[in-house]
Amino acid sequence: MAVHKKKTSPSRRGMRRSHEALPAMAHAECSNCGELKRPHHICSHCGHYDGREVVGAGKALKGAVRA
Ligand SMILES: [Zn+2]
Repeated sequence: MAVHKKKTSPSRRGMRRSHEALPAMAHAECSNCGELKRPHHICSHCGHYDGREVVGAGKALKGAVRA
């Protein structure tokens, strides 16, 4: 088993972890109900897309942005 020669300093550890932050998820307001939704996706709140109802309200959608 390979063994480290030196203990990683808090500074080096921090520099490594500076790239680990998650990017903010893309979101847009639904034009029908105003809830936050993912762009180019059906609104999980009212089931609308592009100004018309696509699926019935209350249906749980996978990967939808919850407000
Ligand atoms: Zn909506």
